[in-house]
Amino acid sequence: MTIHTENAYHNAQKQFDIAADILNLDGGYRRLLRVPHREFACNFPVKMDDGQIRIFTGYRVQHNTTRGPAKGGIRYHPDTDIDEVRALAMLMSWKCAVVNIPYGGAKGAVVVDPALLSLGEIERLTRRYATEISFLIGPDIDIPAPDIGTNAQIMAWIMDTYSMHRGHTVPAVVTGKPINIGGSHGRNEATARGLVYILREACEGANISIAGARVVIQGFGNVGGTSARLLEEMGAKIVGVADRGGGIANTKGIDLRQLQAHYDKTGTVAGAPGGDTVSNAELLELPCDILIPAAIENQITARNADRIKAKIVIEAANGPTTPDADTILHDRGVLVIPDILANAGGVTVSYFEWVQGLQEFFWTEREVNAQLERIMVNAFEQVNTVAQARRMPLRTAAYLLAVDRTAQAYITRGIYP
Ligand code: GLU
Repeated sequence: MTIHTENAYHNAQKQFDIAADILNLDGGYRRLLRVPHREFACNFPVKMDDGQIRIFTGYRVQHNTTRGPAKGGIRYHPDTDIDEVRALAMLMSWKCAVVNIPYGGAKGAVVVDPALLSLGEIERLTRRYATEISFLIGPDIDIPAPDIGTNAQIMAWIMDTYSMHRGHTVPAVVTGKPINIGGSHGRNEATARGLVYILREACEGANISIAGARVVIQGFGNVGGTSARLLEEMGAKIVGVADRGGGIANTKGIDLRQLQAHYDKTGTVAGAPGGDTVSNAELLELPCDILIPAAIENQITARNADRIKAKIVIEAANGPTTPDADTILHDRGVLVIPDILANAGGVTVSYFEWVQGLQEFFWTEREVNAQLERIMVNAFEQVNTVAQARRMPLRTAAYLLAVDRTAQAYITRGIYP
C-alpha cells in the first residue's frame, strides 16, 4: 500500500468544497469549516528497552466542536503526518454529523511503527503521549478511541494515565476500552457490523444479494477481518484479502479460518496458503461484486479507478478513494458508499460506550447492536434519499447532510463574542 502520493488533507478539503458549493455555504462559515479549529504537535522522549532515549512526534487535531465534544481515534503509524491527522479529524466531524451523534471531530497520531516496539515501550510511549495531550482531552472536551495501530489496551493506558493525573478514575475520557474497565459490549466489532448494516441496505437497493456475492477486502485488521467474518456468515464468498505485505486471491473463496491462523502466527495475510499470491494493486482490480478498502487513504486513485471491477465499493477505511477516482467510478456506474457513512459504526458504539460510562449503566451486546442498527439504517436512508432526489453520489449527499448540520449548529449558537 502506498500513501502520500496524494495529500489526504487537500482531498478532504476538495470533498468539503463540493458540498459547500452545492449548499451555497456563506463564505465565513465555509472558511471556518474548511480548516481545523485547533492543532497540537509535540516531540517527546521515551526510554527504550536498551536504555536509549528516542524522540517521537505526536499530534492531536480538533477540527470542530460545535455539535459537541471532539471525538476521534489515535493512530500509530510510521507514515502519518499533520496533514493526514487534519484530514482524519475533519472526516470525524462529518461522520458524527452524518449519523447525528452529538460530537465534533478530532484525530490524534504518533509517528511510530508499533510492530517494531516491545509492549513495555508501547506502554511508555502511550503514557507519555497521553500526558502530552492531557490538557486537550477529557470526557466533555475531546474523547480519543482506537484507530490503526492502537487498540483497547492502549486506551486502557491512556485512561489510567489521565485518571492518575486527576486523582480519580475517569472512564469516559476514552472509548474502545477493555470491557472490564468500562468498555462497551460490541465496540470491537462495531465498525464492521455498522458497515455490514449499510451494505445490506445498499445491496437491497441495487438488487445485489450478499449471499453468493464475491467480496474483496484490503486490510485484515479489526475492521477488515471482522467484516470478512460477518459477510461470510451471511453467505458471501471472500475471494481476495491483502494487507501491508500483500495478500491472496481465490475465485472459489478463501478459507477464513486458515487465513486467520496464518495471520495470528505471522501478523500478516501475505504468504497465506489457500490462494494465489497478489499484490495490493492487483487485489483492488480483482473481479468481484463488492470491494472493501479497509486499510488506509488514497488506495483508489485516478491511476487505477478505471480498472476497478466491483459493482459496489464500500469504504471501511477513512479516505481510501481520491476525489478524481470518485468521478471516474461514478461515471462508470460503480456505487461508492463513503467512509463517513460506511464506517461510522465504530464511533457510534463509542458514543454508546461514553453514554454508558457517564451514566454508569451498562447495556447488553444485543441492546448495543440493536441501537447501532437503528442509527446506521436511519443514516443510510437519509443519505440515500438526498442522493436519489438530487441525483448525486452518496458521498456528496452524505457531505451535504453533515456540513449543513454542522453549519446550522454554528448559526444557532452564533459567533462568540
Ligand atoms: N477511529 C475510528 C474512526 O475513524 C473510531 C473513532 C471513535 O470511535 O472515536 O471512526
